[in-house]
Amino acid sequence: SSEVAELRAAFPYFAAIDATDGSAPAYLDSAATSQRPAVVLDAERAFLERSNAAVHRGTSGAVGAATGAFEGARDLMAEFVGAESSEQIVWAENATDALNLLALGIGEANSGNGVSGSERFHLGTGDEILVTEAEHHANLIPWQRLANKTGATLRYIPVNEYGVWSLDDARAALSDRTRIFAFAHVSNATGFHAPVRELVDLAHAVGAIVVLDACQSVPHIPVNFSELGVDFAAFSGHKMLGPNGIGVLYGTAELLAALPPARTGGSAITKVTMDAAEFMPPPLRFEPGTQPVSQVVGLGAAVRFLTEVGMDRIEAREHELVTRLAEGLAEIRGVRLLGSPDLSQRVALTAISVEGLHAHDVGQFLDERGVLVRVGHHCAQPLHRALGMASSTRASVHVTTTEDEVDRFLDAVRGAQKYFGVEVAA
Ligand code: PMP
Repeated sequence: SSEVAELRAAFPYFAAIDATDGSAPAYLDSAATSQRPAVVLDAERAFLERSNAAVHRGTSGAVGAATGAFEGARDLMAEFVGAESSEQIVWAENATDALNLLALGIGEANSGNGVSGSERFHLGTGDEILVTEAEHHANLIPWQRLANKTGATLRYIPVNEYGVWSLDDARAALSDRTRIFAFAHVSNATGFHAPVRELVDLAHAVGAIVVLDACQSVPHIPVNFSELGVDFAAFSGHKMLGPNGIGVLYGTAELLAALPPARTGGSAITKVTMDAAEFMPPPLRFEPGTQPVSQVVGLGAAVRFLTEVGMDRIEAREHELVTRLAEGLAEIRGVRLLGSPDLSQRVALTAISVEGLHAHDVGQFLDERGVLVRVGHHCAQPLHRALGMASSTRASVHVTTTEDEVDRFLDAVRGAQKYFGVEVAA
């Protein structure tokens, strides 16, 4: 439609494709990383050309202006994700870094490097950290290590034959031993949209801290962390039309104040002696060292862009696209779709295995047809293992995706079956 064409024109990457015959590539890999609109690239460049300076250091007017841009982006982000104050937004490199910052910080709280209130994070033998079998490795390995360090037990909610889990499964797994419950808002392999509000109520009823991996939700649906009631959340700028190298750790004011910094160094402190350091309040406590200012400024521009397009509109549009994808795949014999057949629970992506074909062969065939998808285990090995597969082929959409791109993917999947001579049972 002309609406999509207009949106695509705002992205140099898509504008270049559409300026040719528009045939290649069909970019269906936004779940791995999204393309950036010109306003994001321009904001970074304008900052670097005119305002580049280290922030929160020194007193010059230039530093003041750079700090204003840096903190202005934090304010935009806070409003975008429903934080009650900007102090709840901590800049990190990406979601992986944000989750490590949190798990390592909790580790510090348990190793004698706490700050006032750190007892809240006490973990020991008999305590449990709960995750799900569907987690991205970024929301699994940091918790494995924290469990090893503290003597807590890592438990998980198993997935069913579709690779998803339910509120009842969570209810059965949570107990008064659960101290932390970490799960993805939207799974990057099944597209499963977890019922966060209800899960938060269950977790808080047993006194657990809720950590939300919001990597695949914030770019695609309206998200308000205060309303959801989560204690912490992590997500990446590069999946939400923003720059690489910048992400967010969100936390409640109370818990961030009690969390020790996992990384320490310059500018995050109030007082340092040769023996000890006192730290600034959040968020600066968690941002030692020179910060990626132009990336933060670019992310602010991405937030403005997403807000102008409208997250409700993005959600509705992507739902149409993902429905077209899933329904199209359901019509192809020999294709197994990961995730629930209930499409109301699915956000922005479909991963499949094609009977008789290795995902890498499918991926290579799609690539030759100019259809860009992600092939592999998508950093969710335990999930694929639970489903009895080593890898899958994932197509993901964003608001710039066209129906034609979806159809070319569907055609190419059929083409791969034909090319490799897969016998599809009638
Ligand atoms: N969690 C989920 C659900 C993801 O999809 C991803 C990115 N694939 C991550 C965490 C990690 O994000 P990043 O690589 O940007 O740190």
